[in-house]
Amino acid sequence: MKKLSLVIPMYYEEEVAEDCYKRVSKVVEGLKENYEYEIIFINDGSQDRTLEILEKIAKEDKNVKVISFSRNFGHQAAVTAGLKFVTGDAIIIMDADLQDPPELIPDMLTKWEEGFEVIYGKRKSREGESAFKLFTAKAFYATINKLSDIEIPKNTGDFRLVDRKVVDVINTLPEHNKFLRGLFSWVGFKQYAYEYERKERLAGKTKYPFKKMMKLASDGIMSFSTKPLKLVGGLGIFSVIVSILILIYSILSFALKWNNLIPGWTSIMCVTTFLGGVILISLYMIGEYIARIYDEVRHRPEYIIDKTINIK
Ligand code: UDP
Ligand code: MG
Repeated sequence: MKKLSLVIPMYYEEEVAEDCYKRVSKVVEGLKENYEYEIIFINDGSQDRTLEILEKIAKEDKNVKVISFSRNFGHQAAVTAGLKFVTGDAIIIMDADLQDPPELIPDMLTKWEEGFEVIYGKRKSREGESAFKLFTAKAFYATINKLSDIEIPKNTGDFRLVDRKVVDVINTLPEHNKFLRGLFSWVGFKQYAYEYERKERLAGKTKYPFKKMMKLASDGIMSFSTKPLKLVGGLGIFSVIVSILILIYSILSFALKWNNLIPGWTSIMCVTTFLGGVILISLYMIGEYIARIYDEVRHRPEYIIDKTINIK
């Protein structure tokens, strides 16, 4: 019998954990005639009752497995850890807050049985998300698709069903700071865009504050493009041209006695601040890449597991 694995990360999700388990398990129980299943919850260092609730669930239901991190390592690391432990033939990644309805799983499975290997959820609509979130998401996908060499589908999140084969490939990728939805697109295979309506969060607040969103965006852009580095060169050339123009202007003004550039203070200030800005931007960009290289060569693990339940 074929087996399904569900990977569900949780960070401060005490308000939804129980409901999430109930709704998800109802769906997979309904498929029991044809598929075995396991549900892997990853507690990403939540300090609330999330782990306690998961432990209780796992005690009563042996299909539930729990991985608990020693601290918060982030959503992408949590999913990455889950993928390492899956034993199923088809793997489903979803959020804990039920914004991605688990009732769609049977339908996605049909697509998998038809031979598609990555069935990714594409949001037709997004309920209950702020105008700011929608705007930043849009800006992000526009930027990344302009900068990177591969196409990352718009309006997709990490909600998807993937074949074992694809997960095996993802598991061999050694890179840190993974941007999973980019990688799933990058690896290729037979992909299918599954359109659905994204619901409102069941309860609680988003666990993606602006800072985490920026981190994800920068992981996405930096790991799929080196164009920002080249941009640095462009900025440099541009600033040099501007300073030459200013120089010509000052010489002309001197030669033709326009008498309008008295102490030259303004121009000096303009040039120095402008160059200063360009240099700082450049350093920041180069620094970002170096930080990544440093991260990779240190070989620190992407996450630390504190304990596991129902996993041998
Ligand atoms: N999450 C996590 N670690 C984090 C942040 C989020 O494991 O550091 C989980 C969170 O519990 C949820 C999923 O990632 O299951 C998506 O987060 P959320 O729903 O808050 O993001 P949004 O839907 O608002 O983008
Ligand atoms: Mg959510």
